[in-house]
Amino acid sequence: KFSYQQRMGFGSGNPTGKIPLGLKRKGLRIVVTGGAGFVGSHLVDRLMARGDSVIVVDNFFTGRKENVMHHFGNPNFELIRHDVVEPLLLEVDQIYHLACPASPTNVVGTLNMLGLAKRVGARFLLTSTSEVYGDPLQHPQKETYWGNVNPIGVRSCYDEGKRTAETLTMDYHRGAGVEVRIARIFNTYGPRMCIDDGRVVSNFVAQALRKEPLTVYGDGKQTRSFQYVSDLVEGLMRLMEGEHVGPFNLGNPGEFTMLELAEVVQETIDPNAKIEFRANTEDDPHKRKPDIGRAKELLGWEPKVSLRKGLPLMVSDFRQRIFGDHKEGGT
Ligand code: NAD
Ligand code: UDP
Ligand code: UDP
Repeated sequence: KFSYQQRMGFGSGNPTGKIPLGLKRKGLRIVVTGGAGFVGSHLVDRLMARGDSVIVVDNFFTGRKENVMHHFGNPNFELIRHDVVEPLLLEVDQIYHLACPASPTNVVGTLNMLGLAKRVGARFLLTSTSEVYGDPLQHPQKETYWGNVNPIGVRSCYDEGKRTAETLTMDYHRGAGVEVRIARIFNTYGPRMCIDDGRVVSNFVAQALRKEPLTVYGDGKQTRSFQYVSDLVEGLMRLMEGEHVGPFNLGNPGEFTMLELAEVVQETIDPNAKIEFRANTEDDPHKRKPDIGRAKELLGWEPKVSLRKGLPLMVSDFRQRIFGDHKEGGT
């Protein structure tokens, strides 16, 4: 068995194993689970552009082949249809673990990928979530906050699954010496986002394009902080290449109520879009905003794309996917 440093060719001269971004070094073999999904496919684009060999492992549960099709035929790219709940044997240097069935099987998939990292001495990055903070009693949320999650609530399967995934990740780190990284991702949007998974940004954008009313749940005064996908991918790569385990909040501190978000969507797509109020789901977090001080200081990272700049960048993609080549939705 080799350690991650040994595999990377670092001796004692570089005990941190840090590979500065942009530095010339031999291409890495990187597996991205969930790489055919929204965030994963953008990450794959960056890794491929950097000259690494990328293996995407995806069962296409929510991901789509179209998201990575432009890499087909490139010898550095490989796509494996595989459910991470089943064991997987590969030889790789880094594992970005994004695959996440929103069910307890999330835990099994994470365990398998940690087992793989342990066997081959790869560095493992878990994409956890701001949902580990539950309905937070601290605002904004710092990484040191332990969260406020209802273990038997309607949302708890996802929240507790990710919390357990974090626990397993730290146990493999402490117990088996696996090099790990943990990102806590806040609400992220951008091109290739699932159109119909019910998230608020995709709902509002699709609704405005289809000339349907924007469905605001509850009184619309609850807040979220929305991050553009390219900012997230930059943060994930800095975290993977850096020397800190984390957890790190990766999110945009710009905080919006759902009514404010609806206004930005109106400004961007259709000023005449109507708003319709609907009952909210149970245990919906009242507010959420990342404290990104730790990521700023230790990763030198902060988001660059504001909501007003980022939203138009996803609208053209949604228009294309909803209307095909027709221009039914206007310009
Ligand atoms: P996504 O659904 O687009 O991507 C997940 C991918 O994993 C999909 O391609 C899906 O087919 C694949 N997948 C699911 N179960 C699998 C399994 N058992 N085996 C193999 N592949 C499987 O979601 P995303 O928004 O790109 O999220 C990526 C990661 O980031 C997830 O772990 C998610 O929990 C985390 N995250 C995302 C956000 C966000 O706002 N997008 C926020 C917090 C955390
Ligand atoms: N595993 C895997 N690929 C590997 C090594 C392990 O999928 O290359 C899976 C393995 O099947 C097990 C899990 O990862 O279910 C945890 O592996 P580990 O070796 O840590 O635990 P053990 O098998 O000793 O219980
Ligand atoms: N929401 C909404 N209208 C929708 C979908 C969601 O008002 O059509 C609200 C939802 O109640 C929540 C917020 O938007 O308060 C964010 O929901 P999402 O599912 O996008 O993210 P999460 O709750 O996981 O942060």
